[in-house]
Amino acid sequence: MDIRKLVSEMTLEEKAGLCSGLDFWHTKPVERLGVPSVMVSDGPHGLRKQDDHVDNLGINESIKAVCFPAASASAASFDRETVKLVGENIGDSCQHEKLAVVLGPAVNIKRSPLCGRNFEYFSEDPYLAGELAVSLIQGIQSRNVGTSIKHFAANNQEHRRMSSDSVVDERTLREIYLYPFEQAVKRAQPWTVMCSYNKVNGTYASENPWLLTKVLRKDWGFQGYVMSDWGAVSDRVKGVAAGLDLEMPGSGGVNDRRIVEAVRAGELDEAVVDQAVERILTINQRYLEKARPETVWDMEAQHELARKAAAGCMVLLKNEDNLLPLKESDKVAVIGLFARKPRYQGGGSSHINSFKVTSLMDELRENPNVTYAQGYQTAKDETDEALLQEALTKAAAAEKVVIVAGLPDSFESEGYDRKHMRMPDCQVELIEKVAQVNPNTAVVLYNGSPVEMPWIGSAKAVIEAYLGGQAVGGATCDVLYGKVNPSGRLPESFPLKLEDNPSYLTYGGEGNTAIYNEGVFVGYRYYDRKKMDVLFPFGYGLSYTTFSYSNLKLSSDSIQDTDTLTVQVDVTNTGAVAGKEVVQLYVGDVESTVFRPVRELKEFAKIELQPGETKTVTFTLGKRAFAYWNTQLNDWHVETGDFRIEIGRSCRDIVLAETVKVTSTVRIPTHYTLDSIFLDLLKDEKAVSKMQPLMDGIRKAFGAEEEGSAASEVITSEMNTAIIAYMPLRGLLSFGGGLSRENLVALLDEINQD
Ligand code: BGC
Repeated sequence: MDIRKLVSEMTLEEKAGLCSGLDFWHTKPVERLGVPSVMVSDGPHGLRKQDDHVDNLGINESIKAVCFPAASASAASFDRETVKLVGENIGDSCQHEKLAVVLGPAVNIKRSPLCGRNFEYFSEDPYLAGELAVSLIQGIQSRNVGTSIKHFAANNQEHRRMSSDSVVDERTLREIYLYPFEQAVKRAQPWTVMCSYNKVNGTYASENPWLLTKVLRKDWGFQGYVMSDWGAVSDRVKGVAAGLDLEMPGSGGVNDRRIVEAVRAGELDEAVVDQAVERILTINQRYLEKARPETVWDMEAQHELARKAAAGCMVLLKNEDNLLPLKESDKVAVIGLFARKPRYQGGGSSHINSFKVTSLMDELRENPNVTYAQGYQTAKDETDEALLQEALTKAAAAEKVVIVAGLPDSFESEGYDRKHMRMPDCQVELIEKVAQVNPNTAVVLYNGSPVEMPWIGSAKAVIEAYLGGQAVGGATCDVLYGKVNPSGRLPESFPLKLEDNPSYLTYGGEGNTAIYNEGVFVGYRYYDRKKMDVLFPFGYGLSYTTFSYSNLKLSSDSIQDTDTLTVQVDVTNTGAVAGKEVVQLYVGDVESTVFRPVRELKEFAKIELQPGETKTVTFTLGKRAFAYWNTQLNDWHVETGDFRIEIGRSCRDIVLAETVKVTSTVRIPTHYTLDSIFLDLLKDEKAVSKMQPLMDGIRKAFGAEEEGSAASEVITSEMNTAIIAYMPLRGLLSFGGGLSRENLVALLDEINQD
């Protein structure tokens, strides 16, 4: 179909109409020209396709589907392949259900543990979020179904999500908040991008030309169409001009009319409307041309995949005395309502109507050595004494105890933020009291974001399972009993307490203004720089086996920023069982003129090793691994100097490190004036070669013309050098450096011309 020709045959009213949805989930048809409507649907970790009763908040039921682990969990897998495989399966379900676009992945950065929607987001780390977004998009789109990466951009809180203004400096945006979107667009070309509700630096994302056109299309090369988050449009005409192609769900025709009026009044170029329509129809056509409704949706097979995926996400946080894995013959008391009714997904638009859910107790029903007690009521903070007593009795009679705890639905959801990081009081009391009657207590947590753990000293073992999807019960059983060796790693730091978090003082904002004053120091970038203790660091997680690292080799000890660096390291399974290790590579600039984190994740690999087996892991690093966003160049820049290449088990457990010198091939343009300080010129090689008259001037100004004189000694002493270093060049005029103003200006002109 020749889309451009088709658009040329449309009336302005028809084109304006196509720029918004028909209803909650469909684009508009143009029957006269044979343009069909297509359906989009949430996302991101399974389908939430609604039929008759529509809403976008997850209130009404949707069709039965398969709920895979939420992003908080799948991020902990650090497993690109499994995330891709899940994507392929979601893509198949979309084909079966005649869906053109699935609304995900959601890649916003976890600025604070309080964001109500963190369960749906990947990480506090942009690299990890970007890698997994690329995998999920590639998986889904391999089935010729589109994705809608969301929520673009800087949508890191639910509080006032439709009105708040995220005030973020550009370097922070580029390095942290935009990075996952950038990677996804450049490497996986999502068919669509969903702009967020909030403002970014004063302008709604839905009408922000810098975001939707300059960054997204010009800088990154985005080819698809931009849709609004549901109800995110404020000024539709500004939105069209800025690059918002499709408004969802629509405005009952009001905004369509505005677009028509604006074009007629000469306020909006009709060509921009044409372009939006062309983009939307091109994507719709891409789906329609290869729609395969005959695709089989094997839900049972997907349930098994969901189980495997969930097991690969679980993070073993603690395992004293090798309490885990359990043996089939162990007499175990399983305690906690979540062992019967697991919390496995979050509330809101991603809420899936799972076709079945398995709990831990479903899996253990046939094991005669297992007893069960409910322990607590989910929705309540207060302890139910009868439930507590029953739990204590069963715990005392068992050899080992597994408490399944975590956050109730009401504690975290789309639409509002958490107020604190605590678990319900009744669960804390339960864990502490059970551990007193039976020290062999393991705790499994089902929660979408970090919790404080005042009870951590009481439990011998802890598994962070996050929100693992509908098959979480089987997966929990597999990990508890060692059928699967846990291999998840924390995709975010667990601070000791909420107040430690870098955004704590200003998170949520004042009124509608949320200033991101911590800059690039998000998550571990802050805790590491501050050398703060955390409960568990980013990247952390144990295994039932152990791994050792050796032979870290760099392809060179000195490169240019245009070269690549190859890094190799050997990893050996030194324990008795097979297991998977997540090898993490961090890079840190040893000395920098801009504020930079101590280390940043720049690569990772998940590898499986049999006992005694060794594998060599190879990573390739390019310029971006060393670069920061330079606002003067408006580009990524590497400062010449040494960089540490670190291999770690987490950001706090660096096992091997080497140094590479990287030389920049880009000179930052400089312009010196009389107000420039000596130090800045002294650091500039090109300037130094022309500075002899200035140096002579300094000597003269400080009475040190003669080599070896007392004054000469004085000006080289550390203190005086420092004083001179920070003096503006005009100081030479005031202190008598023998140079006239004209000579000094002429000299600077010469240096500046270089
Ligand atoms: C959410 C989006 C979602 C959309 C449609 C919005 O409220 O923010 O993530 O895709 O609704 O349900």
